[in-house]
Amino acid sequence: MPVSFDLSGRTALITGANTGIGQGMAVGLAEAGADIVAVGRSDADETGEKVRALGRNFHFIKADLSSIAPIEAVVAEAWDKAGGVDILVNNAGIIRRADSLDFSEEDWDAVMDTNLKVLFFLSQQVARRWVADSRKGKIINIASMLSFQGGIRVPSYTASKSGVAGLTRLMACEWASKGINANAIAPGYIATNNTEALRNDETRNRDILARIPAARWGDPSDMAGAAVFLASSASDYMHGAIVPVDGGWLAR
Ligand code: NDP
Repeated sequence: MPVSFDLSGRTALITGANTGIGQGMAVGLAEAGADIVAVGRSDADETGEKVRALGRNFHFIKADLSSIAPIEAVVAEAWDKAGGVDILVNNAGIIRRADSLDFSEEDWDAVMDTNLKVLFFLSQQVARRWVADSRKGKIINIASMLSFQGGIRVPSYTASKSGVAGLTRLMACEWASKGINANAIAPGYIATNNTEALRNDETRNRDILARIPAARWGDPSDMAGAAVFLASSASDYMHGAIVPVDGGWLAR
């Protein structure tokens, strides 16, 4: 079979696709031919416009992914309204910053629930459907440099993203034989709402740029290539990889 990145006829469900990295990946996957189901608590009209302008179908499911409560309904709607999905991108995520000596249980639970618990149980629900339908599937989890490094003042984020790497490997071990590929993208410093405060802090911004071999912040669109690759048949023999897309940060 020739290598193909074509996603025509495939549907990708992306959490948190209204902005940032989620929007960048939604547009990239649509450019490669995929229809998009966006799931989030904020409307994703801008993403919808961009996806539809490419001639792809777009369906938005409103859901607050701070807990697993809406997951069953989200997956049922994706199957009822969009005919199911072939690609699941677990992108929605939050960060809370505070010294570890002062870190609160609330900030711990909020981050772990959205970044890790929802990622696992949404993957579980979608994988159950794939197995029941004898349908192949691709899972792309959004990890982080903090899946590999310690970080400072972000204990729950670091634990959650290390957990994302671990769960990606677990999903690969358990589900590869069922026709499901689970891999992760580990973005570096990407210019989104999430990182606006860092970019606005002149000293932090200078220090960050000095340490990135590519000498620039990543753009959300920089995540699209890896997402298309991991969603396509070109990566059919890849399972459990955590792929850094970080301007060389981890190589340093
Ligand atoms: P943004 O803050 O721009 O986007 C985060 C997305 O997650 C938004 O769509 C947001 O929706 C959604 N989200 C958060 N909480 C919930 C919730 N309770 N229910 C539904 N949706 C929710 O951040 P990024 O684009 O930067 O981050 C995307 C992913 O990439 C995250 O997992 C993040 O950890 C990861 N990442 C980002 C890096 C960076 O440098 N930017 C580096 C490494 C990893 P809403 O707008 O409604 O809040």
